[in-house]
Amino acid sequence: MAKRTRIIEGTWNCTSCDTRDIPARLRNCPSCNNPREETGQESEFEFGDVDAASGKAQREGVTDEKALSASGAGADWFCDYCGASNRGDTPLCRNCRAERSATSRALVAEPEPSDAPPPPPAKKGSSRKWLYVGLVLLAVFMCFFWGSRTHDVTGKVVATEWTRTVHRESFQRVSKTGWRDELSTTSPRMPVNGQGEVPGVENIRDCTRRQRGTRQVADGTERVCSTKTREVQCGTEEKCTRQKLGNGYMKEVCEDVPKYCDESYEDCRTQTRYRSEPVYDLSCTYDTYAWKEVDVREQSGNDSSPRWPELPVGRNDRLRREEKYLVRIQYEDDGVQKHELEPKSEAEFLSWKNGQSVSLQVSNLGTVSDVAHAP
Ligand SMILES: [Zn+2]
Ligand SMILES: [Zn+2]
Repeated sequence: MAKRTRIIEGTWNCTSCDTRDIPARLRNCPSCNNPREETGQESEFEFGDVDAASGKAQREGVTDEKALSASGAGADWFCDYCGASNRGDTPLCRNCRAERSATSRALVAEPEPSDAPPPPPAKKGSSRKWLYVGLVLLAVFMCFFWGSRTHDVTGKVVATEWTRTVHRESFQRVSKTGWRDELSTTSPRMPVNGQGEVPGVENIRDCTRRQRGTRQVADGTERVCSTKTREVQCGTEEKCTRQKLGNGYMKEVCEDVPKYCDESYEDCRTQTRYRSEPVYDLSCTYDTYAWKEVDVREQSGNDSSPRWPELPVGRNDRLRREEKYLVRIQYEDDGVQKHELEPKSEAEFLSWKNGQSVSLQVSNLGTVSDVAHAP
């Protein structure tokens, strides 16, 4: 890509008489004839607006011999004696004829801009956003911390309850259905004292074809399309870099670089189509044995001697037992509060006596984390 170079002339403001926008080529103020100096920001030049997208200066470039010569003379220096600005390539002050010394102050030209693109500007407000997120997290943490702090309170057992249930199950002959290939005839065995039983498979009969499942079968092909997006070059756009030369002139280099746009397109593929097809198999009826619940009895009480309900056991029977215990506790913590314990065993249940004092650990949010017998 061809590069286009322009020289832009800056302007300065006279601090002696307040004349503004004096072209850089004039080293003396056209109104008061004072020389341009370093003081009063007289040598900090204005170059006008710059287009944000391309970086191109809005001001016209200069092409005349005098301006081009001045722009190529290097950075200005300032006279030690009279303070006047001088061309970088002259050894004597044009104002007082003093020589440029090793200590003469000079403007500094900007370095040649590199081809690397400038880093993206940091998003404003992003750090503030993170500050808010941090504060919210801290608040949540503080609440959680406060809520999980515990304190000890004293309470009392106000009731104890027990419930005991006995289920009587009988090993009985039943009919079931099953897939033929999963059945083989085996003899049943009856339980002894409720265990050691074998269900068995007997009298396999009435086999019929029934659907057992489905399978996927290839059935031709189909076109499948989806809309996708890709980046394509769509012409070019002008990009410019600028370099202040330290003498009231600025060098601008512009070039046309490829521009990329999003383009949507149809992405199509041919793929195999499938249809589902039923799969049939033989289903049969057979005889076997299974545990069936035939009776249930429940007993409950508020005393401290839990008992099992009576239930007679037949020859092919077994008993299944369930026990449930509940201890109700009341305590004073910002009003009367209730808590329930569910002991797992009879021994644990019997350790809690009605009217007994207990100590509880309660969090600030009201959750009970521990209950112990009061010392
Ligand atoms: Zn002036
Ligand atoms: Zn001088």
